[in-house]
This record gives sequence, C-alpha cells and structure tokens, in this order.
Amino acid sequence: MLIVMKSDATDSQIEAVLSVIEELGFKGHPMPGATRTAIGITGNQGAVDPSHFENLAGVAEAIRVSKPYKLITLDLRPEKTIVRVGDATIGGDELAIIAGPCAIESRTQAFAIAEAVRRSGARFFRGGAYKPRTSPYAFQGLGEEGLRILADIREAYGLKIVTEALDEAGVDLVERYGDMIQIGARNMQNFSLLRRAGKARLPVLLKRGLSATLDEWLLAAEYVMAEGNYQIVLCERGIRTFAQHTRNTLDLSAIPAVRRVSHLPVIVDPSHGTGRNFMVTPLARAGVAVGADGLIVEVHDQPEHALSDGAQALTLEQYDQLVSEVRSIHEVIAPAAVG
Ligand code: PEP
Ligand code: MN
Repeated sequence: MLIVMKSDATDSQIEAVLSVIEELGFKGHPMPGATRTAIGITGNQGAVDPSHFENLAGVAEAIRVSKPYKLITLDLRPEKTIVRVGDATIGGDELAIIAGPCAIESRTQAFAIAEAVRRSGARFFRGGAYKPRTSPYAFQGLGEEGLRILADIREAYGLKIVTEALDEAGVDLVERYGDMIQIGARNMQNFSLLRRAGKARLPVLLKRGLSATLDEWLLAAEYVMAEGNYQIVLCERGIRTFAQHTRNTLDLSAIPAVRRVSHLPVIVDPSHGTGRNFMVTPLARAGVAVGADGLIVEVHDQPEHALSDGAQALTLEQYDQLVSEVRSIHEVIAPAAVG
C-alpha cells in the first residue's frame, strides 16, 4: 500500500496517517518529494484495506502496490534520491568519484594514494580494511588498524571514507570510523547484514551480486530501506558470464534499467567490472556516458606490488587522466541525465 498525500497536506496530517499505520502494526515510510509526500507501508503480510486511509485528512489516494518493490520505486518517490555523505552528495548534479586502493595495506600506501585522490577533486576515498577474498590464504586486510588509517585520512584530507563491512560487527566498526558502508557483491543477499545496514546511521553502497538479476539487487536494497535507512547508492560492478577476456562483464544496461524503476542513485565500478587495467578507463567513460551518478575506481601508487586486485588498479597518472576525461563526458550528458 502506498499513501499519496495531497500537495498541501500538513505535517500533522502526515503524522496522523503514520499513527494509523502504526496502530495496524505496520511500519510507515514517509518520502517527502518536490510536489507531495508519499508514504510506503511495510510489515503487512496480506493486502492492506485502503479504507483505513482514504477518508483521512490530507490523503489524496491509497494505492495497492502490485510490484515486488514498495520503497525503492519511483511510484513512491518520483524524484531522484540524493544521498548525502556529510557535505558531499551522490545522485545530485555533481559526478561522484570514489577512488582508492582495493585494500589498505599500510599507512604510507594509503596516504600516498589519498593525496592523489584529494588532488583530483574527488570527495570520496575507498579502501578495504576487511577483504572478502576467494582464498582464505590471501591477504584479508589490516582489520581495525586499516580503519584507523582511513579515519586519519578523513581527518587529513577531508575525504569521505567508503569501506566494506563483511558482517554485522563490521557495520559497528564502519559506523565508528567511516562515512559510508560498502556491502560487497558476495554479501548482496546476506539478509541479516542488509537488515543491520538498514538500522545504521550511515549511507550504504550496495554492490550488485555476482549473478544477481535486477530484481534481486533491488530487493536487496528494499531490505535496507524497510529498516528505515533510505540513503542507498546502487553499484553495478559486473556479473559472471561465459566471457573470458574480462574478470566480469560490466552490465551497463543496468544503469538505465535501474533508472526506469528506482529513485536511488546508481554508480559504476569499472575496476571489478573488467578486472584489467587497460579496460578500466574506457569502461569508466562508458559508465558516465550511460548516465551513472558516479564511479568507484581502484587506484594504487604501486599496482605491481598491490596485495589485492593489482591487475585492475590504475596508476596515479592513469587515474588523473580518467578523472579529467569522465568529467568532460559528464558535462556533456548532465542535462540529459536530469530529464
Ligand atoms: C571491492 O570493492 O574491493 C570489492 C571486493 O568489490 P566486490 O564486492 O564488487 O567484489
Ligand atoms: Mn578490489
């Protein structure tokens, strides 16, 4: 059920609708928009009777929802969500650039890369302290020490820290040290982790699962939103296909496909999407051209010595070049992306 309020509905009328929803044992999700507020309802098993709401003051319409999504959908919020990370945004006019190494390896490494990321004008620094590695014998990240380095980078450069939480305890740690919780491809359907992220006070970067359909990915975002965290950025990072010339197949059609159904911002990860250094910049350009709200890119000061994902890391010089190219592309397509 979706309650659309009249454009002149008052705050107390909205409150009254929320109280009725609560009395019925459900949860109300008010989404203020440019022209009206809509309220999504979750927690109901069967259909909700619209007559509970139709005659309440300020209510324009009570609409039954037939799609699997209740909250990520443009039906609830026709305007794009702008995710706010402190004073930086994702989904607004500016192209968001999140850059940094795959893993935080040492203070020296992280600061050398952060310096270049700051100089490029990017607002976000990425780096894993807890790494989900295919092999248990591969470098797993520095753990909390890595998070302390990230917090020091935030302090030194004013960059917003995006870092992965592998489990629920990891969310507590990212809340303490970081600015945005990354949920990795392998965890996209870790439902207890999604629920915990939904209760977090930080925005969430939700990567698409290795073989997730669009519906599965969007329903993962619903898990987070249903708990009350509406600040979510989706990230296309490539999916498994039969192709062997890339690590993954970057599914750029997912960007307009998401746009068609959801108000959430969506960014592209050309690093994991290709796995190969020489493909990262071309696919980053394409991602921006196709309308992504931003990019998440792996950069390393010494890719040949990287402890994880070195083959896809850009050098600092390549990264600088990428930023200037994608900014030019974004300037050209930005007016179209708004429409
Ligand atoms: C990463 O960002 O380093 C990462 C592990 O990404 P993904 O979850 O997309 O594989
Ligand atoms: Mn990586």
